[in-house]
Amino acid sequence: MKNHNWKSNYLSTLQSEIDKIKDEGHYRVFNNIERKAGQFPKATRHSGNGQTEEIDVWCSNDYLGMSQNKNVISAMQSAAEKLGAGSGGTRNISGTTNFHIQLEKEIALLHKKERALAFNSGYSANESALKSIISAFDNCLVLSDELNHASLIEGIRTSKKEKAIYRHNDVKHLKDILKGVDFMRPKIIVLESVYSMEADFAPLEDIIQVAQDNGALIYLDEVHAVGLYGPNAAGVADQRGLAEHIDIINGTLAKAFGLAGGYIASTETIIDFVRSFSKGFIFTTSMCPAVAAGSLESIRQVKKSNEIRSTFFENVDFVKKELRSAGIPFLDSGSHIIPVLIGDSKLCKEISDFLLNEHQVYVQPINYPTVPKGTERIRITPTPCHDPESTEKFVDALKDAWFKFMPQLSKFENQFTNKTKAV
Ligand SMILES: *Cc1c(COP(=O)(O)O)cnc(C)c1O
Repeated sequence: MKNHNWKSNYLSTLQSEIDKIKDEGHYRVFNNIERKAGQFPKATRHSGNGQTEEIDVWCSNDYLGMSQNKNVISAMQSAAEKLGAGSGGTRNISGTTNFHIQLEKEIALLHKKERALAFNSGYSANESALKSIISAFDNCLVLSDELNHASLIEGIRTSKKEKAIYRHNDVKHLKDILKGVDFMRPKIIVLESVYSMEADFAPLEDIIQVAQDNGALIYLDEVHAVGLYGPNAAGVADQRGLAEHIDIINGTLAKAFGLAGGYIASTETIIDFVRSFSKGFIFTTSMCPAVAAGSLESIRQVKKSNEIRSTFFENVDFVKKELRSAGIPFLDSGSHIIPVLIGDSKLCKEISDFLLNEHQVYVQPINYPTVPKGTERIRITPTPCHDPESTEKFVDALKDAWFKFMPQLSKFENQFTNKTKAV
């Protein structure tokens, strides 16, 4: 036995990486939050030592509160009672139920595409589908927005093809990159329709034009838009009547639809290809039948319920109006997400802790690597369930924090305005 084998020391290697992020202030602390079905945004916070308190959640991606919808819950219960808890296998080996098939049909219908494919998460849909599609084309060039989500970046990276990153939403930069690239070379533009941390929209019309002029496919992540935008609640491409120009649409069942899982919707051939070649689809147990049944019910409800979406957007506007009159600056790009820039990870965490401990309102600090260093923020997500009273309470709390931490905040002002464009 050797004394100095690497295993004698490996834990300290890992610990020093952890200590580094602690020093930098972006060590992640998970708040133990138990949401109360039927009472969203109310939740019970377990604050340690067996203590609990009631709080209001202001940072959930359950944008429409569909995770607590009665019909969704009963669809899940009835599916679990009929079929059991787990699916029992991969899609290929005994794990395909009628709920999976119906769900995929419903998703295809939602996006007016020929076919759809469900994954266990939006993350794995992006990673697996992109990797397999890009890998299929020799010499493929990937054009990727610089603020793309980690799941898109991983899918692109693991395809091992050449990628070019264009500045966020900068169509001119995208065009410059494409100058001189052979029209016949395979290309794919990868972007999001609503950027979840910047809260802004992609210039879809212009991107489609660039794709047509240069012979590129478009892969669009509509994760933060599905269920919310468009007459069919299918996202931004639906809202602008552009869905037919998008080759592959990706979405999640976990945010506005309130369940778990992700998907792509596209042509028959692309779906058949991904279904047949994508390892992240093939070699994993399919989603629980109850999740498929609940998602199916949720999509159907959201599609026909214009009221829930109009209440949602009214509440978003009300929060923005209240923030403005409280003098709290935020990025307003017209979407439903409201980022308040802080510009420093430690301060971001301090403000979040202050809001939770002193005011019982919960917004999680958003730090690196979710956003670039120096652009740390809190990200507010109103829902149809946040009534005017809870909004006023929240804005008062934020105002209290804002003016308390103001002297420290101003130090970081110039830092973030250079990095993030407030629109
Ligand atoms: C959350 C998110 C995903 C992943 O979706 P999940 O269903 O939560 O795995 C993908 N893309 C973007 C832009 C996201 O914000």
